[in-house]
Amino acid sequence: MIEPFQKPFLQDISNTVFAQSGCQVHLLRLDVIHPGISGNKWYKLKYNLEEAVSSGFDTILTFGGAYSNHIHASSIAAAKAGLKSIGVIRGERVEPLNPTLHDAEKNGMVLHFISRSDYRRKNETKFIGEMKRTFGDFYVVPEGGTNSLAVKGTTEILLDITEEYDYIMTSVGTGGTMAGLICGLKGGKRVIGISVLKGDFLVSEVEKLVLAYSGKSYKNWEIIEDYHFGGYAKFNEDLISFINEFRSVTGIALDPIYTGKMMSGLKKMTRKGFFKPNTKVVALHTGGLQGIRGFNDRFGNLIQEE
Ligand SMILES: *Cc1c(COP(=O)(O)O)cnc(C)c1O
Repeated sequence: MIEPFQKPFLQDISNTVFAQSGCQVHLLRLDVIHPGISGNKWYKLKYNLEEAVSSGFDTILTFGGAYSNHIHASSIAAAKAGLKSIGVIRGERVEPLNPTLHDAEKNGMVLHFISRSDYRRKNETKFIGEMKRTFGDFYVVPEGGTNSLAVKGTTEILLDITEEYDYIMTSVGTGGTMAGLICGLKGGKRVIGISVLKGDFLVSEVEKLVLAYSGKSYKNWEIIEDYHFGGYAKFNEDLISFINEFRSVTGIALDPIYTGKMMSGLKKMTRKGFFKPNTKVVALHTGGLQGIRGFNDRFGNLIQEE
């Protein structure tokens, strides 16, 4: 199966941008797992690809936007698992392809572009039937990779933490990763999710995912909606300067869609006294760094690279 390229590790960043906070902040570097199968996507795909192979499929089909980390990761992970992959992409094909889609196609993924209105039908049986008539049979990995097997995979993120801590923190897109942390901790410690998009549906989404995987519901978690910077992929100068400052101080790159928002939120929370002094927070670096190229292409090299 797909093995990590490098083992994740904990990095103490308490004395960097968090120096005045009185908290211990450690970053769990999932971004080092693989340059392309970034961070949490490795855990989310693992059991899905195993399932596809053991059920006798030779192809997976999945969904995403034009800059999707999930599409990028799936194109590589599927190939490593010996599977063909089809990426159903929201919007029109634009040449030249952006770096994310260029990589995906180079990795062997067949890209199938559909309109935004068709994209809304992606979970309908009829739509999947149409795709099967076009492409033949395949195993479906949902958008963002989130399902019960993804939750199972992300429970294993906890196995990479070898020290005691009070809080674990992640950015939240679909909620699959957060659900895995909650299920893995079984009610212990506290799990904080920083939502990177607008909308309070994520709480019920995470509840559903936790219940579906574990048959239980837990109370030791919350999703914070104050740090999405206006919505998914929205940003402002504050966010960009935080990401650039963070990199120059720690040497660690953050992406503007997920990890930048989470760390910026965490910094503000520590300043506001959200955590008691000496609390230990483990924040997940969920990766996403492949997206920086496309972001800089679109918006003019705002994020420093290297
Ligand atoms: C996909 C992604 C997330 C969000 O994960 P979910 O399980 O969808 O909530 C967070 N960070 C990065 C870098 C991602 O690519």
